[in-house]
Amino acid sequence: MFINHVHLMPSDLREDATLESFLGAVEGLDFEGAVCFAPFSQQFGWAGRTDDHNVWLHDTIAGHDNLIGYGTLDPKRPARPQVEQIVELGFRGIKLHPPAQKFHMFDEWSREAYAAMEEHDLIADFHIGVHWHRLKEYDPLLCDEIAWHYPKLRMVFEHVGGWHYYRQVLAVITNNGQRGKHLYAGIASVLAKDQQRFWWLGPEGVSECRWQIGADFLIYGLDFPYNHAARLRNDLAQIQALDWPKADIDAMLGGNLKRLLGITTGDALNVGGDPN
Ligand SMILES: [Zn+2]
Repeated sequence: MFINHVHLMPSDLREDATLESFLGAVEGLDFEGAVCFAPFSQQFGWAGRTDDHNVWLHDTIAGHDNLIGYGTLDPKRPARPQVEQIVELGFRGIKLHPPAQKFHMFDEWSREAYAAMEEHDLIADFHIGVHWHRLKEYDPLLCDEIAWHYPKLRMVFEHVGGWHYYRQVLAVITNNGQRGKHLYAGIASVLAKDQQRFWWLGPEGVSECRWQIGADFLIYGLDFPYNHAARLRNDLAQIQALDWPKADIDAMLGGNLKRLLGITTGDALNVGGDPN
């Protein structure tokens, strides 16, 4: 299992979001590695920290070859130099959360970021879904604009847009499917009906995603620390119970993410047929 969507934070920001806490959460599982996100710049600001959030992640995961870092951008500063810093730190992608970070998904600042990311082959992992900010600034249909203008930019749309928007996100992935196979549905925080009703898809919704875009374009993420050890086990129990071929489950639980990252060591990847 190679897990996407792990937010790491120093203990002064959130005690249960440290690297140690995450490694504890996966203990006893068939864990190969994870993609870890740097804290958002505003979180460091709230905690009164003056160090760089991306450098913090770099130093935190140094020496853990199975942990892949993604940086984050400060929307108050020019995008391109930050993207370049993230490349220099050896990170493979950027976590973008437009409503929490309060930026428009397709304005001048964000387009500069996408252009630089496409140039440097960084993966964009987006939060998509209702998050208490003006909806027009992060309407999922803007993802289609990004895909058209930055055709090589590889993107993961987390929560598949959630309960409100998942059909729009599947529309975007399908709409761009003939121009390249580089848009993915992030299967994170979608399997706990009571605790996560805004993002809930349930096993049926996840199966609809597979039916519509194919198992090769589903990437399981934990959304740690908002989901911790118990939620991870609950997710895995529901996923293992899906009426899918084992190869498709394995693809969602890490095979696809490893392929996206170009990781070829370890278990053979389970790559199924072309969904389109
Ligand atoms: Zn997240």
